[in-house]
Amino acid sequence: MKILSAEFIKSATAPPHYPEGVFPEVAFVGRSNVGKSSLLNVLVRRKNLAKISNTPGRTQLINFFLINHHYVFVDLPGYGFARVPEAVRRNWSPMVETYLKERPHLRLVILIMDIRRDPATQDFDLLKWFDHYRIPVLLALTKTDKLSKSQVQRRARQIEGMLMEGANLKTAPNPVLFSAKTGEGRDALWSIIEAL
Ligand code: GDP
Repeated sequence: MKILSAEFIKSATAPPHYPEGVFPEVAFVGRSNVGKSSLLNVLVRRKNLAKISNTPGRTQLINFFLINHHYVFVDLPGYGFARVPEAVRRNWSPMVETYLKERPHLRLVILIMDIRRDPATQDFDLLKWFDHYRIPVLLALTKTDKLSKSQVQRRARQIEGMLMEGANLKTAPNPVLFSAKTGEGRDALWSIIEAL
C-alpha cells in the first residue's frame, strides 16, 4: 500500500468527541510496550506518526488518524502498564469498551502481542469480549526479528494454543507475523485491511 497521506485527526475519550466522517476504522490495541506504535508507524511508513499518541496527555486517550483520506486508524491506549495509576487503569475499560461497542465505523481490531511474551489475563479477557460482541479481530505477533525462524513458528503455535484455551476460542486466531525492524507482515496486514 502506497501511503499518500497520514494525518492526526484528534484525540477523544467519549463518543461526542469522536471524529465525524464515514471512513472505515481499524483499531489497534495491545499491552503497553508490545510494539503498537512501531507497528502503526511501519504500516503508514511514517517515523513518528504514532508518537503523537505517546505525547504527555494523550497516552490514555483514543487517538484517530486519517490515512490516504480513506481509512481511519484508531490507536487505543495500551493496557496493563504497572506504572499507570489505578484511577487511570480503571478508566481504560469503560472508555475503550464504549468505543468498541458503539462505533459503527469499526471494521477490524488488530490485537498486537509480543511474540516472546505469553498472553496475559487481559489478552484473554479482551479476546473473550470481542468474541461475545462479535467484533472482528486479527492477531498480530510482533518482534519476530528477535527470534529464529523456527522459534517464531513454535511460539506462534504455542500462543495460538494458549489463546484458544485461555479465551475459549473455537477457531485458531491465525496470527500475522510482524516485525517493525524488517517490515515482515506489513503487506499481509495491508491486504487484510484493504479486503475490508
Ligand atoms: P508500544 O508501547 O506498544 O507503542 O511499543 P513501542 O512501539 O513504543 O515499542 C516498544 C519497544 O519495542 C521499543 O523499544 C521499540 O523499538 C521496540 N520494538 C517495537 N517493535 C519492534 C520489532 O518489531 N522488533 C524489535 N526488535 N523491536 C521492536
